[in-house]
Amino acid sequence: MSSSKTPESYLVIGGSGFVGRHIVNALLARGDSVSVFDIVQRYHDVQFYSGDISEEEQVADALRKSGTTCIIHTASPAHGLEDPALYWKVNVDGTRAVIQAAQAVGVRKLVYTSSAGVVFNGEALIDVDERLPYPEKAMDAYNESKAKAEEMVLAASGQKGLLTVALRPAGIFGPGDRQVMHGLSQVYDRNQTHFQVGDNTNMFDWTYVGNVAHAHVLAADKLAEAILNEGVDEEKRKLEIARS
Ligand code: NAD
Repeated sequence: MSSSKTPESYLVIGGSGFVGRHIVNALLARGDSVSVFDIVQRYHDVQFYSGDISEEEQVADALRKSGTTCIIHTASPAHGLEDPALYWKVNVDGTRAVIQAAQAVGVRKLVYTSSAGVVFNGEALIDVDERLPYPEKAMDAYNESKAKAEEMVLAASGQKGLLTVALRPAGIFGPGDRQVMHGLSQVYDRNQTHFQVGDNTNMFDWTYVGNVAHAHVLAADKLAEAILNEGVDEEKRKLEIARS
């Protein structure tokens, strides 16, 4: 069970997807209450809310009906589409709608799946961390929209009771992946295997999807802890005032 005293109720937005499904499984495995919000339904073992995140009222409705206390927002169109307007609609307008719905309904915790690509502009990044600023020119429309969404999520922390975290996975592999292995097998099938990038010493981060899911659960637990500590800090403050 989660570390907070009050039982949590999680809404995994994009919970029919690769990463979202692993997060659902991780939460179910520890006995937590989970619902899914997505435009498509692929699983039938948890409460499902059909909706589009760019429609704030649909998100708010699911939050109310499910009694959500913590949102884990993983939804995004896949990388590599030639559709900047779709990225903007889902990742920017949609994430704004998720934030506003959370604040309107009074949900206090939001974990957002960002991407390592938000700081990538094609130049090698070695030993960097979250202090690295966003590049002036994003790699592509997907990364630009992910960066804008991340910025909004972080700026919303502490606003109208909401606390937020954004995680930036790089490449993700594991069971259920529909992008990476599919692309690799297509390249193999076309016999396009004679490529070398640079001098063949280039590196790229890959993380197993189960570990990415675990990171989301830990982030959600940290938010719950922070909210519990708010109460403790408030009690301490009152005691100090009473003593002085
Ligand atoms: P995925 O395509 O498997 O899952 C995304 C889910 O979001 C899908 O189920 C889709 O139906 C849903 N969705 C899309 N638009 C929606 C909308 N408007 N409203 C509601 N639901 C919507 O993708 P994934 O690989 O699981 O990626 C999850 C998150 O992780 C994304 O935010 C992505 O940017 C991020 N990410 C993925 C990778 C990777 O290698 N897969 C790497 C870094 C970051």
